[in-house]
Amino acid sequence: MAKKLFIILMVLCLIFSLASCGDTPKNEGEGNVLLDDEQTQTGDEDQPQTDDKTDEKNTESHSHSYSKATCQAPATCSCGATTGGKGSHNYSNGVCTVCGAKNYLNPTSNLKTNTEYIGNLHVSGDMLIGGALQFESDACVVTERYFNSVQTDPNQSPIVFKGTKYYSEGGGQEPHYYELTDSEVIVKGSFWGGSADAVTIKLVLQSNGLLKVTQSNNSLFPVGAAFSTNINDVLK
Ligand SMILES: [Zn+2]
Ligand SMILES: [Zn+2]
Repeated sequence: MAKKLFIILMVLCLIFSLASCGDTPKNEGEGNVLLDDEQTQTGDEDQPQTDDKTDEKNTESHSHSYSKATCQAPATCSCGATTGGKGSHNYSNGVCTVCGAKNYLNPTSNLKTNTEYIGNLHVSGDMLIGGALQFESDACVVTERYFNSVQTDPNQSPIVFKGTKYYSEGGGQEPHYYELTDSEVIVKGSFWGGSADAVTIKLVLQSNGLLKVTQSNNSLFPVGAAFSTNINDVLK
């Protein structure tokens, strides 16, 4: 009777141990599955699988040669692989040569009229000379603008250019025809002679409010020079 009980106990133990043996691998298996999932997810975040495949494929055939990044696309190899992010706009005369984005304002609505835009200030003898533009309804007044280092009007406040005080003396004015497009200010021919349609100066109105010369037949307005309604912008 005791022997029979012992056998029964042994059988029960065997069943339990089998059951526990069966449980243990199952738990480990579940653990592995979870771990695999975590690893896969981490891998996805760091390196998308497509990139891994592309890189492997290309390492076999060539080393990447990347074009320069543009505002539209990151640096790209001829095989399609990319590196880094998109670049910045490449402005030429206020227009991005890649996407056409503008870094200037529409002058038809943003150009200040009856206000002098002044710039290209430079010393000539004891004078400071610059160019100025003033837009009226029917004419653009082009001015060779003078500042005298000698004060003639005791009530006048000086401007300081490169450490020297200068006093405004007006200038020689000449009215020109002009035209505004959505993107350009076109100063045309003089009222006083030559072709009314001849282009004297082309400018863009930058988003910072400065007029910038993009084309010029007048030495007072060299290409690239900035003109502002606030003289402090152009005294630096
Ligand atoms: Zn490549
Ligand atoms: Zn662009």
